[in-house]
Amino acid sequence: MAFDLPKLNYQYDALEPHIDAKTMEIHYSKHHATYVNNLNNALQGTGNEDKKLEDLLAGVSGYPAAVRNNGGGHYNHTMFWEIMKPNGGGNPTGDLADAINRNFGSYDKLKELISNAGLTRFGSGWAWLVLKGGELVVTSTPNQDNPLMDVSDVKGTPIIGIDVWEHAYYLKYQNRRNEYLAAIWNVLNWEDISRRFKLAIH
Ligand code: MN
Repeated sequence: MAFDLPKLNYQYDALEPHIDAKTMEIHYSKHHATYVNNLNNALQGTGNEDKKLEDLLAGVSGYPAAVRNNGGGHYNHTMFWEIMKPNGGGNPTGDLADAINRNFGSYDKLKELISNAGLTRFGSGWAWLVLKGGELVVTSTPNQDNPLMDVSDVKGTPIIGIDVWEHAYYLKYQNRRNEYLAAIWNVLNWEDISRRFKLAIH
């Protein structure tokens, strides 16, 4: 098997009350696991089993839809688990905080823009903070697409990705995506997000 479900670095209930334990359990052990299995199945026997995930995504228009949907699903969820942590939240710091202030005016404004990107994404998808040409940009994608894909309207390096599929919030928030998007800031892992920004900008 080319790809594995990565280990979750915290317990299912660790992000309570903002993200409930049952949602975490199903989201990680069922949804993410299925993306990994389906990605492996889609690649099996094609000669592409050993390709890096980022390389598959960069050329995803040349692969079957199953690679786009499940490769995106695997990348996006792996990132999502890592940019959250128990007792997270607070404010961005250092060079990332400077870049946020320069590009958006304030962290509050960035939160507003990402929340709005998630709220206005019709159906299922993701809201993103992306580094593009040295600047931070907010965007969203449908389904399991992401800004690494050649098919994406806005391309760049993902710095923050917020899952706005109903499976990410429905058990606790039902139809209230806005409440989920208001709570997500309380569990962000700024150390990991800053690490991604540093890697992307160099
Ligand atoms: Mn999801």
